[in-house]
Amino acid sequence: PVILLGSATCGRSAGASKIEDIMKKRIRDASGNARIIHTGCMGLCYAEPMVTVFNGDTRGFVYGPVTGKLARRIVDEHVVEGQETGDALGTVDIGFRDGIFSPEYDLEFMEGQSRRILRRCGLIDPENIKHYLATGGYRGLIRALNMEPEEIIEDIRRAGLRGRGGAGFPTWLKWNLCRQEESEVRYLICNADEGDPGAFMNRSVIEGDPHALLEGIIIASYTIGASEAYIYCRAEYPLALERLRGAIDELRSLGLLGEDILGSGFGLDIRIKEGAGAFVCGEETALIASIEGRRGMPRTRPPFPTTRGLWGKPTVINNVETLAAVSLIMQQGPEYFSSTGTEESRGTKTFSLVGDVRRTGLIEVPLGTSLREVIFDIGGGVRGGELKAVQIGGPSGGCLPAELADTRIDYDSLTSAGAIMGSGGLVVLSERTCMVELARYFLEFTQKESCGKCVPCRIGTRQMLMILKDIVEGRGREEDTGILMDIAETVKAASLCGLGQTSPNPVITTMRYFENEYLDHLREGK
Ligand code: SF4
Repeated sequence: PVILLGSATCGRSAGASKIEDIMKKRIRDASGNARIIHTGCMGLCYAEPMVTVFNGDTRGFVYGPVTGKLARRIVDEHVVEGQETGDALGTVDIGFRDGIFSPEYDLEFMEGQSRRILRRCGLIDPENIKHYLATGGYRGLIRALNMEPEEIIEDIRRAGLRGRGGAGFPTWLKWNLCRQEESEVRYLICNADEGDPGAFMNRSVIEGDPHALLEGIIIASYTIGASEAYIYCRAEYPLALERLRGAIDELRSLGLLGEDILGSGFGLDIRIKEGAGAFVCGEETALIASIEGRRGMPRTRPPFPTTRGLWGKPTVINNVETLAAVSLIMQQGPEYFSSTGTEESRGTKTFSLVGDVRRTGLIEVPLGTSLREVIFDIGGGVRGGELKAVQIGGPSGGCLPAELADTRIDYDSLTSAGAIMGSGGLVVLSERTCMVELARYFLEFTQKESCGKCVPCRIGTRQMLMILKDIVEGRGREEDTGILMDIAETVKAASLCGLGQTSPNPVITTMRYFENEYLDHLREGK
């Protein structure tokens, strides 16, 4: 038998290593024979620590949350005697379908999901490149190295891939703009500086399938003509960094990184830069400044990084999910990628589903799926009362009320409802939540993270925060809501970078959809 043990950050913090010790001892005591493989997160964070048992065929039984008692029973009954215990949450059947490694789940949490980017997460050993290769990995790189860069850009254009970091800019266009610049030197940067509270999509991809990212980085670098790539990853992700470093070493030892990759004449080196946790360093120009060893502060654009980026050279910055999607597109072709999603928002998107929802975790759905389907079908419904709102897009995003639960998750529908896709944080809020408190919480976050370079953001966020505090603490005045909106509009219009421009979004959307709560606070003085 083979036992997969969820060993991403979520699994470890829920006690995976204790469960491993218990299982190993029990197997030894029973003179059993089973191999335990550490995997990334399968997505069911609510069910960690998790184990999946394969007993000689392609169907695995998924157990979680696994207690010490259940761990012993799994070993006694399932591993040693070959009888499923009856406690499994469901099953997963692994294998290739239509030429692509695509597991089939019989698990409530997976219904409605389409796991493409995350297809290997939780099912392979992220520290063993053979697992990646055996599931179709690096096939996309081999294909790409036999193509002209223009042909790759055309594939990415036909796939319809838009940047998954938030703004949704077409990836092919960004690459093309960089390629068109006259320069001997170009750089590729992977933005893995996931700073939104409640967001962990990028971390999970890196911890569960680091080679999917690295393959995308090599393909993108080859396409734009970069011989050096950087991964900017926050230092608060020690396990992701460890797995990345291990995966890069594996690549070097196999000649998939370094000079003359696979005899193509193309050479690349990948460096890792650890960020110190400043939210503003997710902004492209601040991120570049940070890599260059300067203080992470944004600058005015243009020139855009594709013209003048790292060390003054043309630079493409893509986020983790975008680059993982690149390896998927090159492995399976653009039609496969664009076969799901909407006309303007192709493909799938990963989200971290958190808050007052029964099943929290890491999900991947076709773009165009409604918020309702995500919360009720995948998440199992709201915990602690009725649905009140959904906060989407992190501190820069917006709060949509329950009446808008049928809003489709795609770039344009969310923007017209007043929210943004962001990188993929999705927080479910029950009726117990005070929306004014929530706006204060997010604004406090952005205010602390403001770099202070420009006045509207530096002073405006502080003023808004003071007013919000007055309102929630019972010192609010009747005119405060009007003043709050005026400042919010000014900060939005006049701030230098995205952090400032989007920081009033939680205030604006809660004022738009939950004005009564502000008025109640003012009336009741608390
Ligand atoms: Fe800094 Fe805020 Fe201005 Fe951005 S908007 S440059 S974070 S002060």
